[in-house]
Amino acid sequence: MSRFMDSFTQTLPQVRVRFGAGIRHELGAEIEALGARRALILSTPPQADLAQELSDLIGGLSAGVYAGARMHTPVDVSEQATAHARDIGADCVVAVGGGSTTGLGKAIAWRTDLPQIVVPTTYAGSEATPILGQTEGGRKTTLSDRRVQPEVILYDPELVATLPAAMTVTSALNAMAHAAEGLYARDRGPLTTMMALEGLTAFRDALPAVVRDPTDLRARGETLYGAWLCGTVLGTVGMALHHKLCHTLGGSFDLPHAETHAIVLPHAIAYNDRAVPDQLAPLSELFGGPSPGAALHRFAAGLGAPTALRELGLKESDLDRAVEIATQNPYWNPRPLEPAALRALLQRAWEGAGPEA
Ligand code: NAD
Repeated sequence: MSRFMDSFTQTLPQVRVRFGAGIRHELGAEIEALGARRALILSTPPQADLAQELSDLIGGLSAGVYAGARMHTPVDVSEQATAHARDIGADCVVAVGGGSTTGLGKAIAWRTDLPQIVVPTTYAGSEATPILGQTEGGRKTTLSDRRVQPEVILYDPELVATLPAAMTVTSALNAMAHAAEGLYARDRGPLTTMMALEGLTAFRDALPAVVRDPTDLRARGETLYGAWLCGTVLGTVGMALHHKLCHTLGGSFDLPHAETHAIVLPHAIAYNDRAVPDQLAPLSELFGGPSPGAALHRFAAGLGAPTALRELGLKESDLDRAVEIATQNPYWNPRPLEPAALRALLQRAWEGAGPEA
């Protein structure tokens, strides 16, 4: 079926993408192509060895490793890292890791306009967006800025092969959420819809194989391809209820990012299905189910994804407050935000029930 639309406006992110097993060995050439000579390599503390490996790989082009990235990009960490980058005269940043490390690279680039190369090791997709989310004083805010968009992405399937099975599934569902909400985005266009469906198809086809054998590089590559497409959708169109709920639960209740996405997605999609059934129908076809929410729930549960917010430490008494926060400054959504229906949605997600039929 053609994805033709009568009218649309779309600006796609400008980014150079290189893809393939072992492509990280091209890092030095990519740094030189940017005209840079002193790259600061960023990672989280657990991925410091990988960052050091990349630093060794590029030899004299490395200005050192900063392994202090943390979840949700705390502003104090970003400021320390930016001061460090300035002190050592870094002329580009290389983020190797998931969304937390990419977030730190973006935070430095936003403050300094240094070019960025991202070597993703999860499916979060942040590398494909001009969006920076950061936290300060318990509040998470996001901004979109040209300086934040990474210039180069090196997708190396060998580096996601170390992602444990549970994180593989939740990180993939996090990526798939970008595509699912992209299907009904107000500012979607034919290309974002094609990318969303292709990204979801890649995960549908390859994720079960990756769960069976995490070292299957062909399947890892296909899931990483899905992450790129889903991330590009996130970087191109606006997100809605699902992302608002996840930002609320992550920012105000400190729930872990990918797991929260994995649990909330089928429920948010079921909520919006009432308003935009035609736009969401491809999800039922792709994942095989009576409705888009049920189809996603079955796919996620079949791969062992978490299904209950209570298992993440959220208290039932927090649910009213979560609805209150999620309905303040809401993102645009295809179905109006009805507090009672949202409270019921969160109750189901908290208990681990399936989405509303
Ligand atoms: P993460 O980056 O926090 O990684 C989670 C943990 O897994 C870390 O300890 C990390 O070191 C480890 N890890 C990562 N890759 C690994 C691998 N291959 N093998 C073993 N361990 C590995 O998690 P994430 O889900 O990738 O990112 C979440 C963050 O990204 C959140 O703060 C979220 O807000 C942000 N994000 C931002 C955007 C955006 O466009 N701005 C998009 C998606 C996510």
